[in-house]
Amino acid sequence: MIASSLSSGIEQLGDLIAAASVIVPFTGAGISTECGIPDFRSPSGLWTRNRPIPFDEFVASQDARDESWRRRFAMEETFAAAKPGRGHRALAALYKAGKVPALITQNIDNLHQASGFRPDDVIELHGNTTYARCIGCGKRFELSWVKQLFDGREHAPDCSDCDEPVKTATISFGQAMPEDEMHRAAELARACDLFIAIGSSLVVWPAAGFPAMARNSGAQLVIINNEPTEQDELADLVIRHDIGETLGPFAGN
Ligand code: NAD
Repeated sequence: MIASSLSSGIEQLGDLIAAASVIVPFTGAGISTECGIPDFRSPSGLWTRNRPIPFDEFVASQDARDESWRRRFAMEETFAAAKPGRGHRALAALYKAGKVPALITQNIDNLHQASGFRPDDVIELHGNTTYARCIGCGKRFELSWVKQLFDGREHAPDCSDCDEPVKTATISFGQAMPEDEMHRAAELARACDLFIAIGSSLVVWPAAGFPAMARNSGAQLVIINNEPTEQDELADLVIRHDIGETLGPFAGN
């Protein structure tokens, strides 16, 4: 059912939250747009400007790695300046209140951790862009290390231990999904009684499978997104409004 207005959506969401014992939020890029980080598919989204670089291309080509790091450094001011928004703060308040055990996110911006979630309780399906890892041995690198070497030779550096390429700690198209995270996300989706999908176009698979998994396991499903998603017909409640406006009243400040 689509909420007839923002206020009716907020009221119905409030009732569902009050009645639920275990709430699992599932977030996408839309929760971070009010923090200044563009999403992918909106007209102003990142893909309007840049074709994504698939994983096999990144591995095979130094040019692709250089381009990928150039794009990442170009976004650094935006990522570094971003602070949690009303949506992040509302979810952090529900977490603090003990209603949300953990959340599942497709986002890579670290803003849920910045809002007060313990890192272990943020299940990142697509990784995190605020640091880097060697794709061979998994060694962690800070972006400042990559930047310094990149600036020195205008090429993306390789791992200091094993010489394999270093990449932001994100999951690119064509790269395997993280097994532990997929497993934990499935457990949460099956165990909750309220699943709230927030700011996702719900078209990136396999992540987009979790709302249906929760619904099929008996949870109520709420979708908050300012445009229709492919899964709206599965939802008990669809709130087609701005996320900050919708979740602001739950932020507790
Ligand atoms: P998406 O871009 O496909 O969809 C975002 C959706 O949010 C769109 O339907 C858009 O209309 C909606 N939206 C944007 N701002 C909104 C607002 N203020 N209120 C309500 N709705 C709003 O993003 P996705 O579904 O998360 O999937 C794409 C991939 O994008 C993910 O894999 C993620 O890793 C990556 N991504 C992440 C970030 C980030 O970490 N902040 C930013 C861009 C892309």
